[in-house]
Amino acid sequence: MSELLLQIDGREVTARPGATILEAAQSVGISIPTLCHHEKLQAHGGCRICSVEVDARGRTSVVAACLYPVEQDLVVRTRTRKLERIRKSLVEMMMAHAPDSEQLMALAEEYGADRDRFAKEVSFCIHCGLCVRYCAEIKKKHAIGFIDRGPRKEICFIPEIAARECWECKECFPLCPTSALQAAFVLVKALTSQAD
Ligand code: SF4
Repeated sequence: MSELLLQIDGREVTARPGATILEAAQSVGISIPTLCHHEKLQAHGGCRICSVEVDARGRTSVVAACLYPVEQDLVVRTRTRKLERIRKSLVEMMMAHAPDSEQLMALAEEYGADRDRFAKEVSFCIHCGLCVRYCAEIKKKHAIGFIDRGPRKEICFIPEIAARECWECKECFPLCPTSALQAAFVLVKALTSQAD
């Protein structure tokens, strides 16, 4: 199938059918912020920091660039006041959980986010799911998952699998935007060595 032509931030961009807006933008050097995206993993659309505005079929909407497929004649804006407000609020909400994350601090500076806007509920996890998805999709070990729901949701190593698989692996550690993974791992290590 032939390439599609769309417009991103006023530039004409061609992309293969099935590509996402994020991929099309990256292919021409247009940067869209991401937190839960990883090129080897299935798109997740969880953090919404990659939100962009699209004009399609007579409507303007805000969509996740990592999920939304390109269309012929789609018009995309990656930087508008509305998007800056959305990203600012998202960063502020995430900073209530992980106020010292370097990635979040960089985004806070870029979007003028107030680190202290929301009451702190420090869990260090921003629910990006990178570790969980990497372990399941790439390593196929399922050594880590989410427990609980809503604001109490957090990552948890499965001790019996982690004790066997993680010591020599640690491949998901550098993916974590907040270093929560290392802390959780140290805890599991301590608990499993107590049980020995
Ligand atoms: S360190 Fe453990 S949880 Fe992380 S990818 Fe490896 S096996 Fe999975």
